[in-house]
Amino acid sequence: MIVAYGTTLAILAGLAFGSFLNVCLSRWPTGESVVKPHSHCPKCGHVLAWWENIPLASWLALRGRCRSCKSRISWRYPLVELAVGILWGWQAWQFLSAALNPHLPGLITAPAVVTLLGRMAFYWLLVALALLDAEHLWLPNWLTWPGIAMGVLTRLTTAAASRQLLPDMPTEPLRLLLTREFLHALFAIVVAGGLVLAIRWTYRLLRGHEGMGLGDAKLMAVLGAWLGLSGALVAFALAVLIGALVALALLAVPAVRRGPKAWTMIKLPFGTFLCVGGVVSAIWSQQLISAYLRWIGLA
Ligand SMILES: [Zn+2]
Repeated sequence: MIVAYGTTLAILAGLAFGSFLNVCLSRWPTGESVVKPHSHCPKCGHVLAWWENIPLASWLALRGRCRSCKSRISWRYPLVELAVGILWGWQAWQFLSAALNPHLPGLITAPAVVTLLGRMAFYWLLVALALLDAEHLWLPNWLTWPGIAMGVLTRLTTAAASRQLLPDMPTEPLRLLLTREFLHALFAIVVAGGLVLAIRWTYRLLRGHEGMGLGDAKLMAVLGAWLGLSGALVAFALAVLIGALVALALLAVPAVRRGPKAWTMIKLPFGTFLCVGGVVSAIWSQQLISAYLRWIGLA
Protein backbone atom coordinates (compact mmCIF):
# COMPACT_ATOMS: atom_id res chain seq x y z
CA MET A 1 0.00 0.00 0.00
CA ILE A 2 2.71 2.49 1.02
CA VAL A 3 4.79 1.30 -1.94
CA ALA A 4 1.96 1.97 -4.40
CA TYR A 5 1.16 5.33 -2.81
CA GLY A 6 4.80 6.46 -2.75
CA THR A 7 5.41 5.29 -6.32
CA THR A 8 2.34 7.18 -7.57
CA LEU A 9 3.54 10.29 -5.77
CA ALA A 10 6.99 9.96 -7.38
CA ILE A 11 5.40 9.54 -10.84
CA LEU A 12 3.33 12.71 -10.32
CA ALA A 13 6.41 14.62 -9.09
CA GLY A 14 8.32 13.29 -12.14
CA LEU A 15 5.57 14.53 -14.49
CA ALA A 16 5.76 17.98 -12.87
CA PHE A 17 9.56 18.13 -13.06
CA GLY A 18 9.35 16.84 -16.64
CA SER A 19 6.94 19.67 -17.43
CA PHE A 20 9.41 22.20 -15.98
CA LEU A 21 12.17 20.56 -18.03
CA ASN A 22 10.07 21.16 -21.18
CA VAL A 23 10.05 24.88 -20.42
CA CYS A 24 13.85 24.75 -19.98
CA LEU A 25 14.31 22.80 -23.23
CA SER A 26 12.29 25.39 -25.15
CA ARG A 27 13.97 28.43 -23.61
CA TRP A 28 17.61 27.46 -22.91
CA PRO A 29 18.58 27.34 -26.63
CA THR A 30 17.26 30.89 -27.20
CA GLY A 31 18.67 32.23 -23.93
CA GLU A 32 15.22 33.11 -22.49
CA SER A 33 14.44 33.03 -18.76
CA VAL A 34 12.80 29.81 -17.56
CA VAL A 35 10.71 31.60 -14.91
CA LYS A 36 9.28 34.56 -16.86
CA PRO A 37 7.08 35.06 -18.82
CA HIS A 38 4.20 32.57 -18.33
CA SER A 39 3.95 29.53 -20.59
CA HIS A 40 2.66 30.55 -23.98
CA CYS A 41 2.27 29.20 -27.50
CA PRO A 42 5.47 29.97 -29.47
CA LYS A 43 3.42 30.46 -32.68
CA CYS A 44 0.58 32.79 -31.66
CA GLY A 45 1.61 33.94 -28.17
CA HIS A 46 -1.59 32.56 -26.57
CA VAL A 47 -0.94 32.45 -22.79
CA LEU A 48 -1.82 29.03 -21.39
CA ALA A 49 -4.62 28.70 -18.83
CA TRP A 50 -3.81 26.55 -15.78
CA TRP A 51 -5.70 23.58 -17.22
CA GLU A 52 -3.69 23.74 -20.45
CA ASN A 53 -0.53 23.37 -18.40
CA ILE A 54 -1.18 20.03 -16.69
CA PRO A 55 1.55 17.51 -17.58
CA LEU A 56 0.50 14.86 -20.09
CA ALA A 57 -3.27 15.33 -19.52
CA SER A 58 -3.41 18.73 -21.26
CA TRP A 59 -1.49 17.52 -24.29
CA LEU A 60 -3.90 14.59 -24.61
CA ALA A 61 -7.00 16.75 -23.99
CA LEU A 62 -5.86 19.28 -26.61
CA ARG A 63 -4.85 16.41 -28.94
CA GLY A 64 -1.40 17.95 -29.35
CA ARG A 65 -2.62 21.27 -30.76
CA CYS A 66 -2.69 24.87 -29.50
CA ARG A 67 -6.23 25.81 -28.38
CA SER A 68 -5.99 29.22 -30.02
CA CYS A 69 -4.14 28.78 -33.34
CA LYS A 70 -4.37 24.97 -33.70
CA SER A 71 -0.65 24.64 -34.52
CA ARG A 72 0.98 21.38 -33.48
CA ILE A 73 2.52 21.06 -30.01
CA SER A 74 5.67 18.95 -30.27
CA TRP A 75 5.53 15.27 -29.20
CA ARG A 76 8.56 16.21 -27.11
CA TYR A 77 6.27 17.62 -24.38
CA PRO A 78 4.44 14.40 -23.41
CA LEU A 79 7.58 12.32 -24.10
CA VAL A 80 9.78 14.26 -21.64
CA GLU A 81 7.06 14.31 -18.96
CA LEU A 82 6.44 10.59 -19.34
CA ALA A 83 10.17 9.76 -19.32
CA VAL A 84 10.90 11.64 -16.07
CA GLY A 85 7.65 10.33 -14.51
CA ILE A 86 8.42 6.68 -15.30
CA LEU A 87 12.08 6.89 -14.21
CA TRP A 88 11.25 8.60 -10.92
CA GLY A 89 8.40 6.16 -10.26
CA TRP A 90 10.71 3.21 -10.96
CA GLN A 91 13.41 4.56 -8.62
CA ALA A 92 10.89 5.24 -5.82
CA TRP A 93 9.39 1.77 -6.23
CA GLN A 94 12.88 0.19 -5.96
CA PHE A 95 13.63 2.27 -2.86
CA LEU A 96 10.30 1.65 -1.10
CA SER A 97 10.10 -2.08 -1.79
CA ALA A 98 13.64 -2.50 -0.40
CA ALA A 99 13.03 -0.18 2.57
CA LEU A 100 9.74 -1.82 3.57
CA ASN A 101 10.86 -5.41 3.06
CA PRO A 102 9.79 -7.26 6.27
CA HIS A 103 12.61 -9.82 5.86
CA LEU A 104 15.32 -7.15 5.87
CA PRO A 105 14.51 -4.84 8.77
CA GLY A 106 16.93 -2.15 7.62
CA LEU A 107 14.07 0.29 7.05
CA ILE A 108 14.93 3.60 5.45
CA THR A 109 18.69 4.15 5.62
CA ALA A 110 20.60 7.34 4.89
CA PRO A 111 22.62 5.88 1.96
CA ALA A 112 19.40 4.59 0.34
CA VAL A 113 17.83 8.06 0.59
CA VAL A 114 20.96 9.68 -0.92
CA THR A 115 20.91 7.11 -3.75
CA LEU A 116 17.20 7.76 -4.39
CA LEU A 117 17.54 11.56 -4.58
CA GLY A 118 20.81 11.33 -6.54
CA ARG A 119 19.31 8.97 -9.11
CA MET A 120 16.27 11.22 -9.55
CA ALA A 121 18.55 14.20 -10.30
CA PHE A 122 20.74 12.01 -12.57
CA TYR A 123 17.76 10.81 -14.66
CA TRP A 124 16.42 14.35 -14.99
CA LEU A 125 19.84 15.49 -16.25
CA LEU A 126 20.09 12.60 -18.74
CA VAL A 127 16.62 13.34 -20.18
CA ALA A 128 17.61 17.03 -20.51
CA LEU A 129 20.91 16.25 -22.29
CA ALA A 130 19.30 13.59 -24.53
CA LEU A 131 16.73 16.08 -25.84
CA LEU A 132 19.19 19.01 -26.19
CA ASP A 133 21.52 16.84 -28.27
CA ALA A 134 18.67 15.39 -30.35
CA GLU A 135 17.15 18.79 -31.13
CA HIS A 136 20.22 21.06 -31.21
CA LEU A 137 23.33 18.76 -31.19
CA TRP A 138 24.19 20.68 -28.01
CA LEU A 139 25.53 19.36 -24.70
CA PRO A 140 26.08 22.53 -22.65
CA ASN A 141 29.11 22.70 -20.35
CA TRP A 142 26.99 24.20 -17.57
CA LEU A 143 25.06 20.92 -17.43
CA THR A 144 27.87 18.41 -17.95
CA TRP A 145 30.46 19.84 -15.53
CA PRO A 146 28.01 20.16 -12.59
CA GLY A 147 26.74 16.69 -13.58
CA ILE A 148 30.24 15.28 -13.04
CA ALA A 149 30.64 17.13 -9.71
CA MET A 150 27.23 15.94 -8.47
CA GLY A 151 28.03 12.34 -9.36
CA VAL A 152 31.24 12.46 -7.31
CA LEU A 153 29.48 14.21 -4.41
CA THR A 154 26.67 11.63 -4.34
CA ARG A 155 29.20 8.80 -4.36
CA LEU A 156 31.16 10.32 -1.44
CA THR A 157 27.98 11.03 0.56
CA THR A 158 26.72 7.47 0.04
CA ALA A 159 30.07 6.03 1.15
CA ALA A 160 30.20 8.24 4.26
CA ALA A 161 26.59 7.42 5.19
CA SER A 162 27.11 3.66 4.65
CA ARG A 163 30.05 3.74 7.05
CA GLN A 164 27.85 4.97 9.89
CA LEU A 165 25.46 2.04 9.40
CA LEU A 166 28.02 -0.36 10.90
CA PRO A 167 29.16 1.43 14.05
CA ASP A 168 30.65 -1.60 15.81
CA MET A 169 32.72 -2.83 12.88
CA PRO A 170 36.35 -1.74 12.77
CA THR A 171 36.19 0.86 10.02
CA GLU A 172 38.86 2.81 8.25
CA PRO A 173 39.16 6.54 9.07
CA LEU A 174 36.65 8.70 7.20
CA ARG A 175 39.37 10.70 5.46
CA LEU A 176 40.93 7.52 4.06
CA LEU A 177 37.54 6.20 2.89
CA LEU A 178 36.64 9.45 1.13
CA THR A 179 40.07 9.69 -0.52
CA ARG A 180 39.75 6.15 -1.84
CA GLU A 181 36.21 6.73 -3.14
CA PHE A 182 37.30 10.00 -4.74
CA LEU A 183 40.21 8.33 -6.53
CA HIS A 184 37.90 5.56 -7.79
CA ALA A 185 35.49 8.17 -9.16
CA LEU A 186 38.32 10.20 -10.69
CA PHE A 187 39.68 7.10 -12.41
CA ALA A 188 36.26 6.29 -13.89
CA ILE A 189 35.77 9.91 -15.06
CA VAL A 190 39.22 10.15 -16.71
CA VAL A 191 39.08 6.75 -18.42
CA ALA A 192 35.46 7.13 -19.60
CA GLY A 193 36.01 10.66 -20.95
CA GLY A 194 39.44 9.70 -22.30
CA LEU A 195 37.93 6.85 -24.31
CA VAL A 196 35.79 9.30 -26.31
CA LEU A 197 38.75 11.69 -26.71
CA ALA A 198 40.93 8.85 -28.04
CA ILE A 199 38.25 7.83 -30.55
CA ARG A 200 37.81 11.48 -31.57
CA TRP A 201 41.55 11.93 -32.24
CA THR A 202 41.85 8.62 -34.11
CA TYR A 203 38.86 9.49 -36.24
CA ARG A 204 40.24 12.93 -37.07
CA LEU A 205 43.58 11.39 -38.02
CA LEU A 206 41.92 8.88 -40.35
CA ARG A 207 39.00 10.83 -41.77
CA GLY A 208 39.99 14.47 -41.43
CA HIS A 209 36.81 15.49 -39.56
CA GLU A 210 35.38 14.93 -36.12
CA GLY A 211 33.11 11.98 -35.36
CA MET A 212 32.35 12.78 -31.76
CA GLY A 213 32.28 16.13 -30.00
CA LEU A 214 33.96 17.27 -26.80
CA GLY A 215 30.46 17.35 -25.31
CA ASP A 216 30.26 13.57 -25.79
CA ALA A 217 33.54 13.18 -23.86
CA LYS A 218 32.17 15.25 -20.96
CA LEU A 219 28.91 13.29 -21.04
CA MET A 220 30.90 10.03 -20.79
CA ALA A 221 32.70 11.56 -17.80
CA VAL A 222 29.27 12.26 -16.23
CA LEU A 223 28.36 8.59 -16.74
CA GLY A 224 31.71 7.53 -15.23
CA ALA A 225 31.07 9.69 -12.15
CA TRP A 226 27.57 8.29 -11.56
CA LEU A 227 27.82 4.69 -12.76
CA GLY A 228 31.49 3.84 -12.28
CA LEU A 229 33.73 2.71 -15.12
CA SER A 230 31.92 -0.57 -15.87
CA GLY A 231 28.52 1.14 -15.94
CA ALA A 232 29.84 3.88 -18.24
CA LEU A 233 31.37 1.30 -20.60
CA VAL A 234 28.06 -0.60 -20.76
CA ALA A 235 26.33 2.70 -21.61
CA PHE A 236 28.93 3.38 -24.33
CA ALA A 237 28.50 -0.06 -25.90
CA LEU A 238 24.72 0.40 -25.92
CA ALA A 239 25.11 3.87 -27.47
CA VAL A 240 27.29 2.50 -30.30
CA LEU A 241 24.70 -0.25 -30.89
CA ILE A 242 21.79 2.24 -30.95
CA GLY A 243 23.80 4.55 -33.25
CA ALA A 244 24.49 1.69 -35.69
CA LEU A 245 20.80 0.69 -35.71
CA VAL A 246 19.69 4.29 -36.32
CA ALA A 247 22.25 4.68 -39.13
CA LEU A 248 21.03 1.45 -40.75
CA ALA A 249 17.42 2.58 -40.44
CA LEU A 250 18.32 5.90 -42.08
CA LEU A 251 20.10 4.11 -44.92
CA ALA A 252 16.90 2.22 -45.60
CA VAL A 253 15.17 5.54 -46.41
CA PRO A 254 15.92 6.25 -50.11
CA ALA A 255 15.49 10.01 -49.68
CA VAL A 256 18.32 10.08 -47.12
CA ARG A 257 20.63 8.08 -49.38
CA ARG A 258 19.99 10.37 -52.33
CA GLY A 259 19.82 13.52 -50.19
CA PRO A 260 21.87 16.66 -50.87
CA LYS A 261 24.45 15.65 -48.26
CA ALA A 262 26.48 12.49 -48.47
CA TRP A 263 24.98 10.18 -45.83
CA THR A 264 28.39 9.78 -44.17
CA MET A 265 28.21 13.47 -43.26
CA ILE A 266 24.82 13.25 -41.53
CA LYS A 267 25.33 14.13 -37.88
CA LEU A 268 23.76 11.68 -35.48
CA PRO A 269 23.22 12.86 -31.90
CA PHE A 270 25.61 10.43 -30.22
CA GLY A 271 24.97 12.19 -26.88
CA THR A 272 21.31 11.18 -27.06
CA PHE A 273 22.32 7.54 -27.57
CA LEU A 274 24.75 7.84 -24.63
CA CYS A 275 21.95 9.16 -22.40
CA VAL A 276 19.64 6.28 -23.36
CA GLY A 277 22.53 3.84 -22.77
CA GLY A 278 23.20 5.55 -19.43
CA VAL A 279 19.63 5.04 -18.20
CA VAL A 280 19.58 1.39 -19.31
CA SER A 281 23.00 0.82 -17.72
CA ALA A 282 21.91 2.51 -14.46
CA ILE A 283 19.02 0.06 -14.16
CA TRP A 284 20.38 -3.17 -15.69
CA SER A 285 24.21 -2.96 -15.94
CA GLN A 286 24.82 -5.98 -13.67
CA GLN A 287 22.34 -8.15 -15.60
CA LEU A 288 23.78 -6.98 -18.94
CA ILE A 289 27.38 -7.70 -17.89
CA SER A 290 26.61 -11.19 -16.60
CA ALA A 291 24.48 -11.99 -19.67
CA TYR A 292 27.37 -10.89 -21.89
CA LEU A 293 29.92 -12.95 -19.92
CA ARG A 294 27.66 -16.01 -20.20
CA TRP A 295 27.25 -15.39 -23.93
CA ILE A 296 31.00 -15.27 -24.61
CA GLY A 297 31.44 -18.31 -22.36
CA LEU A 298 33.33 -16.69 -19.46
CA ALA A 299 30.71 -17.33 -16.80
ZN1 LIG B 1 -1.01 29.02 -30.73
